[in-house]
Amino acid sequence: MRWAWVTTCFLVGCVSFHPRSASWPQDASVGADRSPGAAPASETSPGPSPWRVIGLSREGRPLRVRRLGTGPRRVIWVGGIHGNEREGVVSTAELPAAFAAVAGALDRVTLTILEDINPDGTAANTRGNAAGVDLNRNYPARNFLPGPTYGARPLDQPEAEALHDLVCDVRPHLVIVAHSWRGDHFINFDGPAVRHAELFSKRSGYRVKPSDRIAPTPGSLGSWVGRTLQIPILTLEHERGSDPRRCWEATREAILAVILSA
Ligand SMILES: [Zn+2]
Repeated sequence: MRWAWVTTCFLVGCVSFHPRSASWPQDASVGADRSPGAAPASETSPGPSPWRVIGLSREGRPLRVRRLGTGPRRVIWVGGIHGNEREGVVSTAELPAAFAAVAGALDRVTLTILEDINPDGTAANTRGNAAGVDLNRNYPARNFLPGPTYGARPLDQPEAEALHDLVCDVRPHLVIVAHSWRGDHFINFDGPAVRHAELFSKRSGYRVKPSDRIAPTPGSLGSWVGRTLQIPILTLEHERGSDPRRCWEATREAILAVILSA
């Protein structure tokens, strides 16, 4: 069944309905943020929706998303995929308020924020998940390669499957993923995203670096979303070890610009 559906997804760019979505928690009481100051649960509120759990990691940690705005442009922000790259964590925390503060943003864009697709790796400070699989190599791109750190087959890791299903459910116009790179910072892109990458570069000073100028990334999220589905995707590489707050301050305007650009 999965392969039949994945094939459909390949062919139609994720416009098909995924049956698993129906069983995922939609109720505001499931996975809701009950911390002090959390936004009230309301589907009509212009503020952030409650956290929604879209799946569990191998070790059972929740994979959480929240949504802001109701606009026709759909954007997904992924706060982290490699557990030892936490430079984007402040951006993920600050983005909702910064986005909501832009006049008209909530009417123009529906922004889905995925907090961290690799919470087990984050807890252990490892690149891969609890099985040692790189979650940025486990997607059904044409360049997928099976291997101990890539997975035996696409989407055989629960975290990758959850992110895959989120992309197919949201059908975004743009995906942005936070990473970090040793000794350098730049904006990488896949698919029809050169315009977004250039805008990001102009607003941040991060230079544009296409994927063909980086090491091969078989089965990466960028390969699948950008090249297979032809959805623009930006891979934001901060310099490894940078202060996450400085990373946010350096790229805040650029992130908002690409989210809001039509
Ligand atoms: Zn990374």
